[in-house]
Order: sequence, then C-alpha cells, then structure tokens
Amino acid sequence: MNAPTAAPLAWRVTPSDHARSAEQRAAILGGELGFGNIFTDHMVAIEWDKARGWHDAQVRGYGPLSLDPAAAVLHYGQEIFEGIKAYRHADGSIWTFRPHANARRMQHSAARLALPQLPESEFVESLRQLIAIDHDWVPWAPETSLYFRPFMIATEAFLGVRAANTVSYLVIASPAGAYFSKGVAPVSIWLSQHYARAARGGTGAAKCGGNYAASLLPQQEARAQGCSQVLFLDPVEEKYLEELGGMNVFLVYKDGRIVTPELSGSILEGVTRSSILQLARDRGLRVEERKVSIDEWRDGVASGDIAEAFACGTAAVVTPIGELKGEGFSIGDINAPAGEVTMAIRKELTDIQYGRVPDRHGWLVKLR
Ligand SMILES: *Cc1c(COP(=O)(O)O)cnc(C)c1O
Repeated sequence: MNAPTAAPLAWRVTPSDHARSAEQRAAILGGELGFGNIFTDHMVAIEWDKARGWHDAQVRGYGPLSLDPAAAVLHYGQEIFEGIKAYRHADGSIWTFRPHANARRMQHSAARLALPQLPESEFVESLRQLIAIDHDWVPWAPETSLYFRPFMIATEAFLGVRAANTVSYLVIASPAGAYFSKGVAPVSIWLSQHYARAARGGTGAAKCGGNYAASLLPQQEARAQGCSQVLFLDPVEEKYLEELGGMNVFLVYKDGRIVTPELSGSILEGVTRSSILQLARDRGLRVEERKVSIDEWRDGVASGDIAEAFACGTAAVVTPIGELKGEGFSIGDINAPAGEVTMAIRKELTDIQYGRVPDRHGWLVKLR
C-alpha cells in the first residue's frame, strides 16, 4: 500500500480566481502577521487511493475542502501534519530548512497512522510548486517567514473502523511574523501532573492532530496558572521530562553540558532539536540525550548546576524558559534575562536559516 510512485507526479496548476492584488498583499504583509492567521492565495492537493497510489497533483486556489460528512478523518482522527518554513534571504532568494527531514518524519507519522507514504521527492516538490506561484507571500521583514503546513487526511466516506482507502495530502502556507515581536522573552511553563500527551506504544512520536487534541485541556490549565506552555512527563513512570505540547526541551548546565530527553518512543523528534544537538556539538558543548527526571531539574536549579532551560521548534525556533511551575512549587525566575547559551544557539540557527552565515551542514534547500 505504501509503494512510492515510480515516476514523478505530473502537476496541474490552476491559478486562483480570487487571488489578492499586489496592493492587498502588501498591506497584509506590512501589518501585524502573528502566526497562522493569514493564508496565501494557493494550496497544494495530491490524491491517493489504494488502486492508483498518488495521483492528481494540483496547485489551485486556496479555499474550502469538500468532504463527505462520513469522511474518516472527521470521526477517527486519521490525520498527520508537518510544519516547515521558507526564509527570504537578503538577495531575494527563498530557501527552506532540512525539508528531507520533515519528509521522512511525515513518512514515519504516516506509517503509525496507517496512512500512505508520500515520497520524499514529492514532499519537497510540493513546497517548490507552492512557492513557484505564491513566492510574493514570503515576507521580507527580519525574522519573518512563510510557514508551510503540509497535512494528510483520510477522506474515505465510511464509518467502519479501518485505515481509509482514499486520502488527500494538502499544503497550505501562512506568512508568519517574528515570533517574539518585542524581543525574545523567557516564558513560564506549567508541569502537567494529571495528564500525559502520549502513551507507551501510542502516537507520541508521530506528528498527528490527536496528540494536539489531547494537549488542549492541559494547555488551558497552564494558561489558568499564568503559564504559556505545558511540560509533559513520561506516561509510564511520570517522572522523566518528555516535551511541551509542540516543542522539545533542553537544559544547559553551568559545566558546559547540554541535556535533552532521549527519544523515548513517545517524544516527537524535532528537526530543530536535532539541529541544535549538532550546533551544540560544534561549539564544544557536551551533548547528552538521556532520561532527565523532574527532580534533576528542580535540584539542579536550586544548586545552580542548571543555568538555562529552553524549548525549541520550527515556529518559535528557541524559546528561553524562565520559570517552571507545578502544583506547590515554582523554580527559576521569570524576570531573569534569557540564558547566554540559549541565545547564542538561537542566533546561530536563525543566522543559518536566513543566510547570514555559511550553511556548513548543507541544511538549506533553495526553493526559488
Ligand atoms: C512539531 C513538534 C515539535 C517540534 O518539531 P520541529 O521539527 O523542531 O518543528 C516538537 N514536539 C511536538 C509534539 C511537535 O508536534
């Protein structure tokens, strides 16, 4: 069922009949972009069915989908997604970051959700096709980007419980503002002690909507506690750090070690996470991927051995964690400035992405 299509897909491009004018676009891009609020004029769609495999690759006007109310995705959540950005360089060229890593991750997510695997080359081509028509939507202002949201849904109209025989892969794109418009500011994190985001043998290592659905209630709880994000513990011993709802987590020790939870089977392997591990090694930091208990964090902050903590993911890149709160405790200091190692790594990664320093690991792929 997952055999990749041998020949590259033929693309059909139908320009939107309601594309915005250059003036309208300039007004939108010149305003407050935020994250995920505005979408470009076009989208990608590729269909899959069991008999034909991947077929009917299209770029068409952005607009509502027509789905049968019995479509499996609406009932059983057979859905996966990706998040990846296009960056405008000073010379006007447009690049993306490690797209083959996202393509492979989407294949792993697909395997777990019993969805078909889109060939890596078609994943990258889908981004290229969308940029070919919507390149003017990639903003120029510092630290802005065009965020791609590739996703795959089960479209078969059938209420029996089994993997669907018809599937759509889609890509939409959203111009995104600088995540921290007023400068990078440390955030408060809430430790969820009642909820897990994933289970042993569950879908934690897949990027699927269901994991996010499970994180919404704990996220509300975090907000009510004055925190912006939730930290989840491992679902088995409820003792070891896993990750935030949509970001991986790192601790920086004052002796030059940088530690992140090992991939436990229920942690999502972030492309940002693996890039930071590489950049940390390059800087001569001692990198450790291992189990990290919540007690280690608490005691390490108390003794001063842990100097910094941060979260990372494509959307915000690197977010300093100022404070960790949970029932009956609070560690760190939300008013302390962001850590030096955190900010240096953040700067280096964004400098690579925006073409301001050499891309020594060959991570960038030119889209236009
Ligand atoms: C997408 C995601 C991340 C971050 O992955 P990146 O590839 O770095 O953007 C981390 N955790 C979860 C649960 C995610 O869905």
